[in-house]
Amino acid sequence: MLKYTAKKLRVILLDRDGVINQEPGPILTPEQFVMIPKSAAAVARLNAKGWQCFVITNQAAFARGDLSETVFQTITAKMGSELEKSGAHIDGQYYCPHHPDWKNGQRRKEPKPCACRKPGTLLLEQAAAEHGFSAAESVLIGDSIGDFAAAAKWGTCSIGVRTGHAGQDGKASAEPDYWKADLWDAVEFLLENSS
Ligand SMILES: [Mg+2]
Ligand SMILES: [Zn+2]
Repeated sequence: MLKYTAKKLRVILLDRDGVINQEPGPILTPEQFVMIPKSAAAVARLNAKGWQCFVITNQAAFARGDLSETVFQTITAKMGSELEKSGAHIDGQYYCPHHPDWKNGQRRKEPKPCACRKPGTLLLEQAAAEHGFSAAESVLIGDSIGDFAAAAKWGTCSIGVRTGHAGQDGKASAEPDYWKADLWDAVEFLLENSS
């Protein structure tokens, strides 16, 4: 049985890079955005179940000066069209453009953490406030320790997938509640263990 206790799971919080799309490095162009096999089909199954899906993503390439809002929007549009090919969609996206060591392409003199970069929980709180759901009604699926730490701090169940960093990024010390091979397997697991 799943760890979460909600009567009804209604929201899936998805990390983007390494969960939906492959992450050979930072994704700086739409061409670099390549879907992980079956991830779009997995999102379609979540959509069909009536669960809302939100992407919650750290995009430090903004802070490093490598990514503009315009280009990020074209990458988001590519994600949307790739999902659409499988009849899938996401219900919203929240991103952190910051990095503690970088600002506007310059190294900061002093590190300055923000509240929104995972393992911070601000983006989760924002999504929950704007769409009216609670941590207990959600599950977060990610590939990085920062994802698992954010989920644990916010009090939501987490599933780790081995398609990305596989928890080897050393960003914080946290384990997910469950490990699955990829998003497809994680969704299968959620569907098997929910009413
Ligand atoms: Mg990731
Ligand atoms: Zn931030």
